[in-house]
Amino acid sequence: MSAPRHPSRTKPGVETKRTLCATCDVSCNVVTEVKKGRVVRVRSSDNPIFRDNICMKGIVAPKAFAHPNRLMHPLKRVGERGSGKWEQVSWDEAMTDIAARLQAIIDRDGPEAWAVSTSQWNTATDHGLGRRLMNHLGSPNWISGVALCAGNTAAINRMTYGWFPFADFPNTNCIVLIGHNPRRNSWVPVYNQIRRAQARGAKLIVLDPRKSSNAELADVWLPLRAGTDTAMLFGWLKVIFDEGLYDKDFVENWTVGFDELRARVDEFPLDRVAKITGCDPEEIRKAARIYATHGPAVIPWTPITDMQRNSTSGIRLQSILRSVCGYVDVPGGEALQGFHPHVIPESKIEAHEMLSEEQKAKQLGSDTHPAFTYRGQAGLLEHTKRVWGYEYTNQVTGCFMANPSATFRAMAGEGRYPVKAFFSLGNNTLLSFANMPLILKGMMNQDLIVVHEQFMTPTAQLADYVLPGDSWLERPWLHDSFGWSSMVRPSQKSMEPLGECESTFSVWKRLATAMGRGDIIPWDTLEDFYDYRLEPSGMSWAEFSESYEIYFGPLEFRKYEKTGFATPSGKVELKSSILEGLGFDPLPYFRDDPPPNPEYPLMMFTGVREDEFFQTGQRHVPELRARKPEPNLFVSPGTAKAQGIAEGDWAEVINPTGSAAMQVLVKDAMPDGLVRIPHGWWKPEMKQGAGHLSGALAHADAQLCPDDEDFLDREQGVPHLKGIPCRIERLDAPPEGAQ
Ligand code: SF4
Repeated sequence: MSAPRHPSRTKPGVETKRTLCATCDVSCNVVTEVKKGRVVRVRSSDNPIFRDNICMKGIVAPKAFAHPNRLMHPLKRVGERGSGKWEQVSWDEAMTDIAARLQAIIDRDGPEAWAVSTSQWNTATDHGLGRRLMNHLGSPNWISGVALCAGNTAAINRMTYGWFPFADFPNTNCIVLIGHNPRRNSWVPVYNQIRRAQARGAKLIVLDPRKSSNAELADVWLPLRAGTDTAMLFGWLKVIFDEGLYDKDFVENWTVGFDELRARVDEFPLDRVAKITGCDPEEIRKAARIYATHGPAVIPWTPITDMQRNSTSGIRLQSILRSVCGYVDVPGGEALQGFHPHVIPESKIEAHEMLSEEQKAKQLGSDTHPAFTYRGQAGLLEHTKRVWGYEYTNQVTGCFMANPSATFRAMAGEGRYPVKAFFSLGNNTLLSFANMPLILKGMMNQDLIVVHEQFMTPTAQLADYVLPGDSWLERPWLHDSFGWSSMVRPSQKSMEPLGECESTFSVWKRLATAMGRGDIIPWDTLEDFYDYRLEPSGMSWAEFSESYEIYFGPLEFRKYEKTGFATPSGKVELKSSILEGLGFDPLPYFRDDPPPNPEYPLMMFTGVREDEFFQTGQRHVPELRARKPEPNLFVSPGTAKAQGIAEGDWAEVINPTGSAAMQVLVKDAMPDGLVRIPHGWWKPEMKQGAGHLSGALAHADAQLCPDDEDFLDREQGVPHLKGIPCRIERLDAPPEGAQ
């Protein structure tokens, strides 16, 4: 089944292209209008499947990418690191020197001394080629923001039933949003699907400390204390087991570990859960009953549970709820789709089999927090091959990563071996993980930093080379859902890249060639590479991108009845043999917060994306900044009064990791004692270079995010961003650069 190309409205003199917006991670199908070789407009698709899937960030993209400060040429640092002194060089000069310096570091310290940080959108849709080169050269130290956003969730879901499921919104009867708040201008396709499901009668349950916009529309809103999802889900299971609301046939025939799980769940009577979460036990009971009896239901992926002290247990409990209620791989539930059988997946391109076991064992963090590393996923390989056809199934690109904190420690000279060469592609690394002071120290300790970017980000300001990245308007893209589902979509190139901007394909190919290993990336162009990946379909890239807007793999439910699940037992593992083999508790559990510190009486949560921005991007776009000129912290009226702050004041948020300045907004929707701070703030208009970093040292939330053991998930080593102790101090005057 597939959705062929839908006819598009056209105007005289205007060419239209079918494109995927890569400004955020949901990749909406949109139409670009091209006049005289330049994109003049981005609009919603004409195809009814995708109509209305667009937000303000997508609409302003042509202007955002035409900004006068866009990086147009390769730059080489000529002063001290962070001095802001650059000279323009050619791509050939840059890559020849980068290759020689990287090879010298590899020769001296081993290939593991090279780490790469990237993300899978914007400049960084690198198609698995970065990992392919690293695997051939021998470095396991690839990290990404997906370590705390979907990639890690995929890796943990696989431990329960062998694949990361995809919510069947069009047919579901009940949606559970855990802290996630898709909006008209944020995760738009998900927002539209939720509203459509509600319009035909589906229930909505929202777990969120704030009265979010989805909470306002929910059948049940559970205002749980930030970071207590795991306890809440134990409470749901307690209700579901005690009242016999689970799918007994499925549990009996297709799961292992039910009795042990049930004993663990019995440790969470509702009065305990109510005490931990702060929610009314009757409301908890009501929500659990709706979930279990109004199915098929879905718990769509949420970035919230990804980023907690109890992340692994919380994600496991979501997967267990889906399973015991019989919602896995059924219509209206959560489909296990596998790869598209006619497209070579990025997992295969990545060539993980080329990396030796000896080098895999060196992957940073695999000794302490192994869940998504090679070591953590090794027990799934043969079972994944049995069911899904490939041993190294790298879903959402996060299943075989190094641990970011361990990587930054090694960069700072505090690891088990040194990392001395660091590449950052479309990933403003300095602001994108916990413990920014450590990342900064690690970057200042490098012999070689290469950044591939569209703008001079704080991370780029510390580089040896800054390479100009193309945009999603300027390149084709074969989107394979990051290995999550069997949907494949083409994005047509709309215009030629501006200046000397080039794609990540080009960066990796140039580097491989300059290192004398051009054989590793033998394709001449992205289009050639896509021809190769589409070979099983019998179509070329040109044919495919002209013919389809979305290309589905065969959708079959209850496949496990033929193949079993891709776990060691072949069943859903309520008790995880993989986690047990790694020396962890095989059952979900709950860790309390560390004892309160009277110096930091408030709790903050961060990681929230605002409608105007995605991650650390878009602060340079006037239309978007006009809507949100400053980083805003949210507090309740009660907290504002108690802290002596008022709407519009500037305040410093402080904790033992660092501090950040924010402007206060008082929100009725916030509970008392909780502070919400926004993610990823820097100000492109402010002074660049070390000591300034365009306002990142004043405003970035990563300065407040600890990564010591009390604030890391044990199994994955992801940071706890949903309930960090802090205090607030009112500033007498706005900080430098305030608008
Ligand atoms: S939600 Fe907005 S930014 Fe994200 S892909 Fe869609 S149009 Fe682009």
